[in-house]
Amino acid sequence: MPFKQRVFSGVQPTGNLHLGNYLGAIKKFVELQDRYDCIYCVVDMHAITVWQDPAELTKTTREVTAAFLACGIDPKRHIIFNQSQVHEHAELAWVFNCVARVGWLNRMTQFKEKAGKDRENASVGLYVYPDLMAADILVYRGTHVPVGEDQKQHLELARDIAQKFNNDFGASIASHGFDDAFFPLPEPIIQGPATRVMSLRDGSKKMSKSEPSDYSRINLTDDADAIAQKIRKAKTDPDALPSEEKGLEPRPEADNLVGIYAALNGTTKADVLREFGGAQFSTFKSSLVDLAVAKLGPIGAEMKRLVDDPGHIDGVLAEGSGRARVIAAETMKAVKDIVGFIRS
Ligand code: ATP
Ligand code: MG
Repeated sequence: MPFKQRVFSGVQPTGNLHLGNYLGAIKKFVELQDRYDCIYCVVDMHAITVWQDPAELTKTTREVTAAFLACGIDPKRHIIFNQSQVHEHAELAWVFNCVARVGWLNRMTQFKEKAGKDRENASVGLYVYPDLMAADILVYRGTHVPVGEDQKQHLELARDIAQKFNNDFGASIASHGFDDAFFPLPEPIIQGPATRVMSLRDGSKKMSKSEPSDYSRINLTDDADAIAQKIRKAKTDPDALPSEEKGLEPRPEADNLVGIYAALNGTTKADVLREFGGAQFSTFKSSLVDLAVAKLGPIGAEMKRLVDDPGHIDGVLAEGSGRARVIAAETMKAVKDIVGFIRS
């Protein structure tokens, strides 16, 4: 039996949303709305895998929700909610902790990067983060997951978990009337010219919420002046832009800015180079400022308007959580039957 197609993805309320989150994830969320049923989650339980000030966590949860709405996700046709309101995520994550192998988690590069040198002192939650992420997707039996390139490895792990669950419990799955597979193997959607937006200061590092220098990223709430300043100061090399994509290969900073331009404009890097090949960075950066301000300005303004009304945001999350819970509860009931847990 083919699985019903369903999109799931999440964003952590861990700080300032930036251009990487927008181009790598949220912009895709918006585009997928016309073709799929979509569930978009503010993953507050993931956020606390590293320390979060409680009042700040509440505020950033509302900010990410505001960003979803400001970018154009329709909370009536689709579902927007925060993870901790649907306890089935945590329940299924526990089952997946018992399906996933320590060896699998030991290979996860995000844990190594985030734990840094002091690994003994990292939270256990940070280590099992990918199991919770698999549960987020699979508790809705999600089939498609739009994410940035950095999440590819976690998506592969989610597929491995789904596959092992289906194998380990194969007989029980069949005896409960679910054919041979209970969980779909979720497919990542990682496409386009900006799947890994790099820092504006260092073309070898991903643009990130946690980087101390604000000049490394463009925040969705930056005003036109801040956007212009950050783009003008962005690191580049002294050469003119190439006319062919191949010319970008040894030039990570140029590649990044061209990719950003293409993604904001809905075109390809080749299109951008056809227009700007041979131009100096000063010319290209001016056009990039205009484009970025035109695209991001209205989003930032709408986010600011929305966060001024926390009652409305909390209402959207409550309503979305109620609808998410119905689907998640149905999956969890079946999982309990399959695993052999008595329920009443
Ligand atoms: P943190 O540093 O707290 O992990 P983050 O910026 O990585 O923050 P997440 O909430 O972990 O943000 O990720 C949300 C989505 O944004 C994910 O789909 C992720 O792949 C995507 N994403 C994050 N950074 C980038 C980037 N630099 N380029 C493209 N996509 C990105
Ligand atoms: Mg991240």
